[in-house]
Amino acid sequence: MLSVKEKERYSRQIISEYIGEEGQKKISKTKVLQIGVGGLGSPCALYLVAAGIGELTILDNDIVSLSNLQRQILYCEDDIGINKTEITKKRLSKLNSNVNIITNKEYVDNDSIKKYLNNKDFIIDCSDNMKTKFLTNKVAVENNIKAVIAGIKDFYGQIITINPQKSACYQCIFNEPKEDIKLDSPLPVIGVTPGILGTLEALEVIKTVLGQPNLENHLLMVNLLNMTFNKIKVVKDKNCICTK
Ligand SMILES: [Zn+2]
Repeated sequence: MLSVKEKERYSRQIISEYIGEEGQKKISKTKVLQIGVGGLGSPCALYLVAAGIGELTILDNDIVSLSNLQRQILYCEDDIGINKTEITKKRLSKLNSNVNIITNKEYVDNDSIKKYLNNKDFIIDCSDNMKTKFLTNKVAVENNIKAVIAGIKDFYGQIITINPQKSACYQCIFNEPKEDIKLDSPLPVIGVTPGILGTLEALEVIKTVLGQPNLENHLLMVNLLNMTFNKIKVVKDKNCICTK
């Protein structure tokens, strides 16, 4: 049952024919693990918490720096030098005290991520590197947890939703880069690009929970220079980790 306050808070969602009270209850039962709370992760977390997601666990190892502020919209000048997870917990709790928000200053790797998978309905990759995106995908496939993975560069972005039992995974589409490939310099990015792609990641979780059409078996390619959104059909690779 939704409380009187919840009915008021989510009233504009509840009157949507695609959500309703039943949909809102589904959203409020959903448990999400979010990897990273930077450019993609800031809007993703804000919209999930605003929408009344049940539980949001966020992992990030970074502190806020001046060059983050043009795109990582959870943070202010006063936050420079402070752990992102510490600020995130405070900001998100102020936004919606009904949501169980768990943040951990944690470097995400093959071992550390395992501690946070229990009972999760989704893993969202909001990281800034390919290694973590492939790790998110692998962990999602191995543990049969749905995942949303997005990537951005400059004015471009891409996003996919993965249902391990049914749909193509990230590794069906992309080849894992060799370990020794390391970016020496930061990628160019206009803050709006992760703003849009991170928002789409939150939307994918919400729509998947509601049983609405999502990006399973589709890669959405976003070009914000030309303003084109191309949805490309993708299929499971028979030799991929997700089919073994
Ligand atoms: Zn696959």
